[in-house]
Amino acid sequence: MSTIKFSDLGLSQPVLRALAECGYTEPTPIQEAAIPIVNAGLDLIASAQTGTGKTAAFTLSIIDDIATRPSEKGDTPLALVLAPTRELALQVDENIRAYGRHVGTRTAVLLGGVPSGPQIDRLRRGVDFVVATPGRLIDLVKQGEMILDDVEFLILDEADRMLDLGFVHDVRWVADRVPKPRQTLLFSATMTGGVRSLASTMQTDAQSISVAPPAAVADNIEQRVMFVAKADKADLLVELLKGDDTERALVFTGTKVAATIVARHLEQAGIRAEAIHSDKSQRQRQRALEAFTRGKVQVLVATDIVARGIDVEGISHVINYELPEDAENYIHRIGRTARAGKAGVAVSLCCVEDVSYLRGVERLLKTPLIVFEDHQWHSPTVAACLAASARAARQRARAGKGRGSGSKWAR
Ligand code: AMP
Repeated sequence: MSTIKFSDLGLSQPVLRALAECGYTEPTPIQEAAIPIVNAGLDLIASAQTGTGKTAAFTLSIIDDIATRPSEKGDTPLALVLAPTRELALQVDENIRAYGRHVGTRTAVLLGGVPSGPQIDRLRRGVDFVVATPGRLIDLVKQGEMILDDVEFLILDEADRMLDLGFVHDVRWVADRVPKPRQTLLFSATMTGGVRSLASTMQTDAQSISVAPPAAVADNIEQRVMFVAKADKADLLVELLKGDDTERALVFTGTKVAATIVARHLEQAGIRAEAIHSDKSQRQRQRALEAFTRGKVQVLVATDIVARGIDVEGISHVINYELPEDAENYIHRIGRTARAGKAGVAVSLCCVEDVSYLRGVERLLKTPLIVFEDHQWHSPTVAACLAASARAARQRARAGKGRGSGSKWAR
């Protein structure tokens, strides 16, 4: 438990009041570490995942700074947040409005996939904060509707995801046009070489903080793996979702096509489900998320790209219909359950094709997942395949040691 209180962090009374109304009683570790750095006007590079409270960590001081300026507010934005996905951008915008509700923080959110007219109107009425995905932002800058000249705070949220989605040039394009001196804050769930290199081109003497190791999984998530033939996954999924303890579930697939097929299969089995992925329009995604949040839909079937912005309370189960190729996505996926101190269950359905990905997850977690065999679709073939893969890895490690060279597999 933190001994630092929000009131120790130099925030103004109206912002403290808003935090109390949000139900925040004490700062999270990232807030405790980041807020003094942001207050001091320094650049920051922070390794923190969604779910750690990072949005408040980077917005609170800026909201306060802008609100307490003695001079009359201008109409062009002072703070710009770049987010990789529309869901995350909406989430960040919603948080800023909540934290800034007593100081009149004016925000605009600029997203592709919806008409730009209302966004332009919003900008013309005057804003303090802009939260944007890169494509639409650049369009509006080029049209002369979004003015970057007065931006003093540039924030890059989920920088690793930004790079995964191929936004590196867009981010650089924007950063080159935000005047210096400025304060640049960069948040990333994982600190890859690409993220560091991007940061180095955007920041000056950045303070570095890391609040959770990349492979940290909340203690209150019960993780299980079930071995199953690929052809039986859909039936096993239906059985899991019909279980008594499954209230609200998020199911992950590796592809958009699979998400659509799985959602359709669930609907046919009488389970209210919606697919959510980047081919869906902004409106469709919002509608699906709302239905899920309100409990009209029990299951959301999602791909990794849209998942990070999903901050819905009460997700009892995360089910990996397919294991992710990138083991770190496993951590991001299962972090959607067990929010706000509640318990959650993460189940991975592993067929032969998933075995190497399961090995990757177990290497990252540094522990094997508990296998749940007590179901009618249990596949001994998958178990044998996993054992063979582990054996081969051990042999490779031994051979590597014999040659005096370290094996990547064994590390
Ligand atoms: P974030 O990592 O910014 O997406 O935040 C994850 C969740 O934690 C959101 O639902 C926030 O509303 C919530 N949150 C952020 N800061 C706090 C806090 N200090 N106390 C309790 N909840 C918080």
